[in-house]
Parts: sequence; C-alpha cells; structure tokens
Amino acid sequence: MKIIILSRNPKLYSTRRLVEAGKERGHEVRVVDPIKCYMNITSHHPVVYYKTEPLEGVDAVIPRIGASITFYGTAVLRQFEMMGVFPLNESVAIGRSRDKLRSMQLLSRKGIGLPVTGFAHSVDDTDQLVALVGGAPLVIKLLEGTQGRGVVLAETKQAAESVIDAFRGLDANFLVQEFIKEAGGADVRAFVVGDRVVAAMKRQAKEGEFRSNLHRGGTASLVRLTPEERSTAQRAAKIMGLNVAGVDILRSRHGPLVLEVNSSPGLEGIENATNKDVASMVIEFIEKNAKPNHTRTRGKG
Ligand code: ADP
Repeated sequence: MKIIILSRNPKLYSTRRLVEAGKERGHEVRVVDPIKCYMNITSHHPVVYYKTEPLEGVDAVIPRIGASITFYGTAVLRQFEMMGVFPLNESVAIGRSRDKLRSMQLLSRKGIGLPVTGFAHSVDDTDQLVALVGGAPLVIKLLEGTQGRGVVLAETKQAAESVIDAFRGLDANFLVQEFIKEAGGADVRAFVVGDRVVAAMKRQAKEGEFRSNLHRGGTASLVRLTPEERSTAQRAAKIMGLNVAGVDILRSRHGPLVLEVNSSPGLEGIENATNKDVASMVIEFIEKNAKPNHTRTRGKG
C-alpha cells in the first residue's frame, strides 16, 4: 500500500516508528508536511499537491496533526478524504477531539463518566461557578493549554476566585472541574486501535505535583486496566469517531472518569512503558480497513 503520514517533523519518535513499521510490513510510506501542501478546490478532481508534485495513488493517510495546525492540517486531510483516500482518523473526528467542550458534551450525552465540570465565558458570578462543581479544592484549566500548561489546582475558594479573575482578565476560555484527589496525581492512558485497547500505561506525577504529564516530570509504567476502564476507553473513542485514540482516565471513587480523548496520541511513552509494538498494530489496522471511498463523513459535518 501507499501510505502518507501527515506530520510536520519526520524526526519525531511517533512519525519515525510509523514509517519503520509500515516499511517493515512492505508498504511504501512517505512523510508529508501538511503545511507545505496546497490544494485545488474543483468539483470533479480534487488533488493535493506537495511542493508542486500531485500526490496520487495514495491508499491511506495517517494524520499526525499538531494542535497548533489543526485548522490547515484537517483541511488537507479532508481533501484526501474527498479524493477517496482512507484516513486513519477522519478530519471531522479530529476537529471534534480538539474542542474540549464539544468533546465533553458528546461524551456526557452518551453516559461516559467525566469529572463534574463547569464552563463559562464571562459569568459575573464566580461564586456560582465554583459552587457548581462542588467548591474548592478545584482544578481550573485554560482551554488552549496542552501538556498540563494552564492547568491549576486551587486549594481554597479564595485561590479559585483569584485564578478565575485572572483568566477572565485575559479574556481566555477556561473550565472549572472537581479535583479528583483520590487519583493521587496519577492518570491512566489507554491506547485504542479499532475497537479495542491495545496498550495501557499509568502516569504518576512527580512528588508535590498533581499533573501527571510526562513533560512535567511524570513517570510512566505498565498498568492493567479493569474491564470497566477498558470499555470506557473503547466507548469514548467510538463516540468521538476515532479509530486510533489515546484516552486519558482518572481513577476516582466512582469509577473511571475520562479527562480527554487524544486523536494523535504519542507512541514513545506507551511503547516504552509497555514494550509493545503499537506502531505495527496501527499499520495492521490500516491493512484491514483501508478501502477506497470508505470515509464515513467525507469531511461533512
Ligand atoms: P492537558 O490536556 O494539558 O494535559 P489535562 O486536563 O490532561 O491537561 O490535565 C493535566 C494533568 O492534570 C492530568 O494528566 C491529570 O494528572 C491532572 N488532572 C487534570 N484534571 C484533574 C482533576 N480534575 N482532578 C485531578 N487531577 C487532574
């Protein structure tokens, strides 16, 4: 098969591993920077060009589109979809997953466990927003943040109010969330391929920190999921419409609570923690499922 990986940087671990796994399994794999692609929007013959060369005869596209280029990256992916190329994750599903509020609304509608969360744009009544999620301690998150940046634990009501006022002053979108203390600074990442969890790791925050992000000094280890956690992760990916997803789960007294469903989950942490060849599982999924003109949405709503 001819597979294209949409990625800004061929040197990234995840990109490298996918290239390696694809080639090992006998495919032609090429990394294409979505930012350097341009497209013609005509009714009968959509084409993606990469540095003047039309990309033709492609069987599947693996989108590895960073949050900072979601808009243009998903447009390029959508063009491939309109050409009938199989996308590992569809542009519509990626767009959905990049909007935290939309994701939470979709997941809650289907009964997935989530931390109690409130969001507001410019409420005057900070008190009420804090009360909505059960008061302090609580977590306040900037919507634009990634890798734990802009995620703040407010231990008291006063602290919560100051942070909310500061975020509001910046005209930033944020959400407030109950603090799941019993998670003990840990969360679980379930890596979903197709309709099953193929690998899982636990991330533990470093001493004195509640955010378990590996970029913040958290450490990863192999973990065995409960059947409930496994089915929660699989359902969450399915609701989002993602074939491949990293589902982040907090272990609460009331069972698994989904924090986020990531549509471009990294391979480095999960492969190192579990010693599994996740990249090959992704390629195998493509082998089994890539058929031309098979996109569910073809870029529509
Ligand atoms: P990001 O998407 O920037 O990584 P997250 O919402 O995943 O932000 O939060 C970062 C980390 O903070 C999580 O991995 C988790 O360890 C911790 N965390 C986030 N929300 C809560 C919460 N409501 N209760 C307890 N810990 C939390």
